[in-house]
Amino acid sequence: MSKTLHIMGVPFSTRTMNETLEEITSAAGQQQSKPFHLITANPEIVMKAQDDPSLQQIVNEADMITPDGIGIILASRWKGAPLPERVTGYELLLRLLEIGDRKSWSFYFLGADEATNEKAVSTIRSKYPNVRIAGRQNGFFRPEDEPRIVAEVKAAAPDFLIVALGAPGAERWIYKYKAELNAKVAFGVGGSLDVIAGKVKRAPVIWQRLNLEWLYRLLAQPSRWRRQLVLPVFAVKAFMDRSK
Ligand code: UDP
Repeated sequence: MSKTLHIMGVPFSTRTMNETLEEITSAAGQQQSKPFHLITANPEIVMKAQDDPSLQQIVNEADMITPDGIGIILASRWKGAPLPERVTGYELLLRLLEIGDRKSWSFYFLGADEATNEKAVSTIRSKYPNVRIAGRQNGFFRPEDEPRIVAEVKAAAPDFLIVALGAPGAERWIYKYKAELNAKVAFGVGGSLDVIAGKVKRAPVIWQRLNLEWLYRLLAQPSRWRRQLVLPVFAVKAFMDRSK
């Protein structure tokens, strides 16, 4: 992987949002045996990969990993090699839908509960009329349904497979079926379909600008506190590792 900065063993792309979009656009224009696997990684994923070799392998084999979270940007600053900006799954998805609306790209949406998936897809249909919907499937399926879902994605051969199964569930799912998914680009988008469907609100822009999106999410969904306990641990570890 070129143009990378390692943070705790995870090779992050040093590209800006626009450069990332150029790279993905080029991947979407190429025929390939496996999808271009993009991961938007936050500190939680980096921490999980530390003591989970299977996740470490998924991360190492990804085609691009972008910094999703202010913690990653801070860690890059401590290393004296600041990453230019956050490249989040939600923003990438919206920008790719805009480009896709001009290029008539096709998208398959996998994940979120049935009502949310349906609402998100219908919102996308009306907002980006030239985007082709290759298919959709909610994210609450049984393991025995997976062969059918994989076969459906394969037959649909979408330009983009968007996976909203939570992190790192989405990354594991894409990795597991990589060789069978006939998609050009695949990536996990966390709770983005919930936001598009209006089920969950994203932090107001001012909170985002102040890099306090994590705090907004914590206040909006206090049940996340346990997951966020890992953030100070990440900060300490990233600081200790800054010269590595
Ligand atoms: N989800 C799903 N199937 C599951 C678990 C979760 O489709 O078995 C969906 C959930 O409905 C939500 C998304 O995955 O749309 C996870 O959102 P979250 O904000 O938790 O994302 P994360 O912070 O894990 O990236």
